[in-house]
Amino acid sequence: MDPRTEERSRKRRGLLIVLSSPSGAGKSTISRMLLQADTEVTMSISATTRPKRPGEVDDVDYHFVSDTEFDRLIGEGEFVEWAPVFNHRYGTPKAPVKAALKDGRDILFDIDWQGTQQLHSAMGEDLVRIFILPPSMAELERRLRSRGTDSEEVILDRMRRANGEISHWAEYDYVLINRDTESCLAEVQKIVAAERLKRQRQLGLVSFVRDLAGPQH
Ligand code: 5GP
Repeated sequence: MDPRTEERSRKRRGLLIVLSSPSGAGKSTISRMLLQADTEVTMSISATTRPKRPGEVDDVDYHFVSDTEFDRLIGEGEFVEWAPVFNHRYGTPKAPVKAALKDGRDILFDIDWQGTQQLHSAMGEDLVRIFILPPSMAELERRLRSRGTDSEEVILDRMRRANGEISHWAEYDYVLINRDTESCLAEVQKIVAAERLKRQRQLGLVSFVRDLAGPQH
């Protein structure tokens, strides 16, 4: 095949991949593994007003900002979505999303159901919404406790909030049950692979088919 035709045939629109789940269902591990395995996916780094946890790095895990700075970012229209979660505010910066879409790169979002709804309104056709469920509430609690980082009060609060997050499962395109990390990651990768092949995302297809089979196709 002519290399230029091949190059054109590969061009595609970037995907906006949302992974939501209750805290403890394994979303962060799966996100990390997906990013390692797939160089076409980059992570969206949110801004948040919540304090940094031990081990977190500014501008890597989050852009940690003050309330005043967050207000300024809202005022200047810098967020594609933002929402209050657990008494703090979280928002997705708009510029990296636009740049990734333009370059045909995929962006992964670890955001809650409120942010997912807003992203859906703002850029519905580019969005792929994946919800990850724990196999049971008992297993979710076990996973939260096994982290060993949270107090009893925080764990009970996360369990209460898990019910709220799970109640939005039907607003997602795909729903996975995370029985084990490897299988769940493999399912996420299959979804991403299939979504990339959707006709409307393959930008070079019209000219490819024209070269292949003639203008009447
Ligand atoms: P954590 O404070 O544990 O890192 O995150 C708490 C929750 O906030 C998680 O459910 C996460 O998905 C959500 N979250 C993180 N960043 C954003 C964001 O930019 N927008 C929205 N709507 N939710 C976010």
